[in-house]
Amino acid sequence: MREKILKILEGYDYDKIAIGTLGSHSALNILRGAKDEGFRTVCVCRAREKITYESFGVADEIIEISGYSDLLDRNLQRKLREMNVIMIPHGSFNAYIGRLDEIMIPLFGNRELMLWEIDRKKQREWLERAGLRMPKRFKKPEDIDRLVIVKYPGAMGGRGYFLAVSPEDFYAKARKMVEAGIIREEDIKKAEMQEYIVGANVYFSFFYSPLLKRVELIAVDRRYEPVDGLGRIPAEVQIDAGLHPTYTVIGNFPVVLRESLLAKVLKAGESVVEVSKEIAYPGMIGPFCLEAVFDDNAEMFVFEISARIVAGTNVGIPNSPYSYILWGENMYMGRRIAREIRMGIEKDKLEDLIY
Ligand code: AMP
Ligand code: AMP
Repeated sequence: MREKILKILEGYDYDKIAIGTLGSHSALNILRGAKDEGFRTVCVCRAREKITYESFGVADEIIEISGYSDLLDRNLQRKLREMNVIMIPHGSFNAYIGRLDEIMIPLFGNRELMLWEIDRKKQREWLERAGLRMPKRFKKPEDIDRLVIVKYPGAMGGRGYFLAVSPEDFYAKARKMVEAGIIREEDIKKAEMQEYIVGANVYFSFFYSPLLKRVELIAVDRRYEPVDGLGRIPAEVQIDAGLHPTYTVIGNFPVVLRESLLAKVLKAGESVVEVSKEIAYPGMIGPFCLEAVFDDNAEMFVFEISARIVAGTNVGIPNSPYSYILWGENMYMGRRIAREIRMGIEKDKLEDLIY
């Protein structure tokens, strides 16, 4: 697969490389960053979101599609290749397309690692091999003996997640979710039951540079979810009113970490990159994110990894404290990606960045 993509890249005119992405998730970040680094930009988006990309003026070219899976259309792919487009994959590529092997356009990143991300078992294997502590996983609902969070496969942005404290509680709530049409019957079987860690959620967005051979911490965020509204309502009112707000992500806040915790976080980023080289050649390329919770003892539990840009990096435009300290200039994930591509072109090492 990678050979085919590298062949396509060989046919590109390196002086006319354009950066493209699907219009959603972190496209503003990606396209602004590409423009800051002097690239032409292409946004492939649906009619309903066109206003966003027109309004911010970050796309030199907007290609309208009727649905995200149109990116699998051969004619559209040919058109993008003719425009020398390198595509930057983000959460919508996983959530709405999935069939990454059918995208015959050079992608910045490692598609094989994106497949590891989609599979929760593989994710756990990756993170555990990197020596990271994860929340305990329960194999079947009958084993639930503490507070757990129930999740489904793929990047669903927290949709349909619920909490359960016992097997009975699990089945009762799962049934209600199916009846309400929030999840499907078959989702229940595929659900992952994870020990719920009560603590502070912090998400770390790193960039691994194959050219500089280093891991950079680019942005740190936490999420803003409807469940956060619960803290504004006294517990007895929550019970009386039968409130069950969800973990559906609505937005993100920037975070700076207590400095003494940084060493642990940076080491975690490095070990994840080391393992990535063993599991999916050539290993990590560009952005990835570790989602963590710190408990009362400041113990770090990592519960997810994303092998691509995450939307939380949108809080880091034009810079986060960390990207500024590192670069001494405005640097954010979209721009960092474009900077690496720029360096790849200059050093004639673009193929090291593409899959
Ligand atoms: P959207 O384009 O907003 O529908 O998002 C595409 C995918 O990325 C969906 O699976 C979303 O749940 C996920 N997503 C979007 N924004 C965020 C965010 N700020 N944090 C985490 N996930 C997100
Ligand atoms: P995810 O889709 O795995 O990124 O999770 C969505 C949200 O669920 C996160 O932003 C957290 O608020 C929460 N969450 C997920 N897993 C855990 C866990 N093991 N412990 C505590 N909170 C969690």
